[in-house]
Amino acid sequence: RIAYVNGQYLPHRHASIHIEDRGYQFADGVYEVVTIVNGKMIDEEGHMERLWRSLGELQIDAPMKAGPLKMIMREVVRRNGVVNGIIYLQITRGVAPRDHPFPKNTTPALVMTAKRLSMDKSERTAQAGVNVVTVPDIRWDRCDIKSVSLLPNVLAKQAAKDKNAYEAFQVDKNGMVTEGSSTNAWIVNQDGKVITRPTSNEILAGITRASLLRELEKKGVEFELRSFTVEELHNAREVFLTSSTSYVLPVVKVDEHVIGNGNPGSISVTLRQIYRDFMEDAS
Ligand code: PMP
Repeated sequence: RIAYVNGQYLPHRHASIHIEDRGYQFADGVYEVVTIVNGKMIDEEGHMERLWRSLGELQIDAPMKAGPLKMIMREVVRRNGVVNGIIYLQITRGVAPRDHPFPKNTTPALVMTAKRLSMDKSERTAQAGVNVVTVPDIRWDRCDIKSVSLLPNVLAKQAAKDKNAYEAFQVDKNGMVTEGSSTNAWIVNQDGKVITRPTSNEILAGITRASLLRELEKKGVEFELRSFTVEELHNAREVFLTSSTSYVLPVVKVDEHVIGNGNPGSISVTLRQIYRDFMEDAS
């Protein structure tokens, strides 16, 4: 495997960064994960826009313009021979003697890797459906920034893993579901209405979420953008989640509540197919 590190393509095992990189010391950086299907990036522009927004909110300079960055992304995909998989890219404020305020004249650091993911495995997971647990949302007020500061998300995902679940849906202080530790949360209520939380500072504006909503609009599938309670989640007709690595993934159990008959719901299965068709068309 080959990694890109600040201007160089290096064998993955030799790729490293400085101990005083602010990403390491303060989680002072942002990232993106981009899906690769048939060797092509899905929603490249959406990811670039979100990346630039995250950088802007943290006042980190972009290490280069979007054009050259996209060329490096293509090169990382090519050098790793990725047909189906993901690109991970991370930009931190750079290397400086440890001190909390922004350092002056520091060059932002850019790291990129790519890895293969098996479509077959993804499909098998989707056909079985996954389990989800709920946990309190203990994150900060800027979940709209795709920051590498992910400790609460790590704790949430581990809580899920400890209970043999795939994902943890986080719940805010009002008992409303925010999102998964690395996914957006959706329900289909007993009226058959597709529901997901509106974007705000409380969740990450998922690129998969946005693309699925666009496809639903095109197909005339009705949806509601509103917060939903844990109770609505437990009693939903269907539950699913979205992300760049999971696509649209049916959920068949939430905490102790079996969803529907314990198999992926028909709407979730259809929406996964709609999203997979969208990826095929884009690739
Ligand atoms: N929410 C959070 C907290 C995430 O980390 C992610 C994955 N980056 C998502 C939602 C899904 O976003 P996307 O569809 O852009 O992968």
